[in-house]
Amino acid sequence: MTGLPSHTQVIIVGGGVIGCSIAYHLAEKDIDVTLIERKSLTCGTTWHAAGLVGQLRATKNLTKMAKYSTELYQKLNSMDDLSTGFKQNGSLSIAENVSRYEELSRGVSMGRNFGLEIEEMSFEKMKEKYSLLNFQNIDDDVKGGFFHPNDGQINPVDITMCLAKEARRMGCKIIENNKVLSFDQEEDKVTRVITEMGSINCDKIVIAAGMWSREIGKMCGVSIPLHACEHFYALTEFSSEIPRDLPVLRIPDSQMYVKEDAGKLLIGAFEKKAKPWGMNGIPENFEFDSLPNDLEHFGPILMNAMSRLPILNELGIQSYFNGPESFTPDDRYYLGKVPYKENIFVSAGFNSIGIQSAGGVGKVMSEWIVNDKSKVDLWDVDIARVLDFQDDSDYLRERSSETLGLLYKLHWPYYQYETARNKIQSPLFDILKSNGACFGEAAGWERPNWYTSANQEAKYEYSYGRQNWFENAREECDAVRSNIGLFELTSFSKFIIKGKDSANFLNYVCVSDMNTSIGKITYTQLLNEEAGTEADITITRLENNKYLYVTAPTSHNKDLFCLFKFKGVIFLTINSSSNPRYIPKHNTNLTSSF
Ligand SMILES: Cc1cc2nc3c(=O)[nH]c(=O)nc-3n(C[C@H](O)[C@H](O)[C@H](O)COP(=O)(O)OP(=O)(O)OC[C@H]3O[C@@H](n4cnc5c(N)ncnc54)[C@H](O)[C@@H]3O)c2cc1C
Repeated sequence: MTGLPSHTQVIIVGGGVIGCSIAYHLAEKDIDVTLIERKSLTCGTTWHAAGLVGQLRATKNLTKMAKYSTELYQKLNSMDDLSTGFKQNGSLSIAENVSRYEELSRGVSMGRNFGLEIEEMSFEKMKEKYSLLNFQNIDDDVKGGFFHPNDGQINPVDITMCLAKEARRMGCKIIENNKVLSFDQEEDKVTRVITEMGSINCDKIVIAAGMWSREIGKMCGVSIPLHACEHFYALTEFSSEIPRDLPVLRIPDSQMYVKEDAGKLLIGAFEKKAKPWGMNGIPENFEFDSLPNDLEHFGPILMNAMSRLPILNELGIQSYFNGPESFTPDDRYYLGKVPYKENIFVSAGFNSIGIQSAGGVGKVMSEWIVNDKSKVDLWDVDIARVLDFQDDSDYLRERSSETLGLLYKLHWPYYQYETARNKIQSPLFDILKSNGACFGEAAGWERPNWYTSANQEAKYEYSYGRQNWFENAREECDAVRSNIGLFELTSFSKFIIKGKDSANFLNYVCVSDMNTSIGKITYTQLLNEEAGTEADITITRLENNKYLYVTAPTSHNKDLFCLFKFKGVIFLTINSSSNPRYIPKHNTNLTSSF
């Protein structure tokens, strides 16, 4: 008797905060759900998180999700037999240079638009809120600060256990000390999950296995490109001089954050160049584990903290902590349904914000799993954006050394990654380069973003103001407008859509009239069933029953997946090197008509 059910509607792999939140939200919807954890709940990355909970994210929907997280954590905390340790003490973000001040100010106006309360603080008010702060020379030293009253901090183990407890109460089965070993699949569907204790038939699976997710994806033919990096913090001794109501403090220019924790200070780091970890795999017995401290690496950030918070010069460090967390190539996590798979969902790669994200993630994932689609636009974090070339260990190791640091570096407009470049080049690369192209990366492709003029270096000089390539872009626009331009579209994904009813089919899925004259290019949008926009595309009518469909390279899988939903209705061939592996069997050679 193993206690395993023979069948369950949804199996979640992984019992960290993310898996438990998805279980909670599915159980709330009366879905029969089983969560499988290889060791104990929280034993991966969750148990050692610092527990900062912020609300402002890069888009409205991600901010809404983070806001929902705090509301949920608050709600659970107020329930009789539950305690999440959630403390809504706010957070204070400080700018140490003018560019950061500009960045934070822009964030504030965006946040207010998203319905967040944010207050700009004078130096006096900052000192009042955070008495331990030292401003040496206000003019040179600190440019400003912003207070987010609804942010806070939480105990990561407690919130996970609360979610698990509530999920169980609503009928979810949680089975610990039971590793998922493999999956049985029929066509593009997982039918059974094989675990150490036996197998379970299921309708859908969710991979929520943190830094193990890439490995688990491989068991069912799914790319989940992420890499673990070491993440450091230090915890001071107790001091009665540390006020208990301090907000969370973020000073990104010094790469540090600070949290008050039972009369101690926790100082965490997002250093500029991170240390990737787990290159030879994650040890089998990894459970509530930590990694060796590296003071040479962490020391400079601790020094920054000491000059900003003089009390640290008097306090001893009680413990140093170093734990692994998974990072993705673009610093955005993965959510949603895997393209070309009928019943596999992913929720992984949380780039150090898994605790604050978990509530909202559980909510949107449960809707996605039940409805097979997301109710809201979550393209920035959709697993469909993953491209095959990214699932490469060297690429991931190199890129993740940069992405951890990007969390606290300035988020410049038009930022170009510095690592893992030159992965895919067009045959024209050298010619374009010798003509002064300044390249940027899109979906692994090196693309000319602008061209230099005489004696100019092909280099971005980042700014929140006018860009250094403004005049170059102006010249290019003028040239194309008054003469003729030749655009290189090698990196774009291209599909040929053909068959006797191609025009009708395209009229059904696109916003524009596609019954155009031969040779005409139409800029249009690909729509979904609710008439929402899925992609921004151009379509050229090549022949009466043949069209060339051109889309952004990052959108390759998403578009193809949308089009493939119309099984057996179109003749579709693919003409793109972005992801040649993804050519579903059912659609390579169909001749039936729409
Ligand atoms: C030092 C540090 C500080 C952090 N601070 C913060 C913070 O302040 N705020 C914040 O929001 N985030 C923070 N984070 C990030 C946060 O901890 C993570 O994003 C989050 O815990 C990820 O949760 P998860 O459920 O995805 O992964 P995990 O917690 O790692 O859970 C995955 C689970 O899957 C299980 N598993 C793996 N393989 C299998 C298998 N084959 N079968 C069954 N189960 C399997 C593992 O055992 C593990 O328990 C921090 C991270 C670190 C390292």
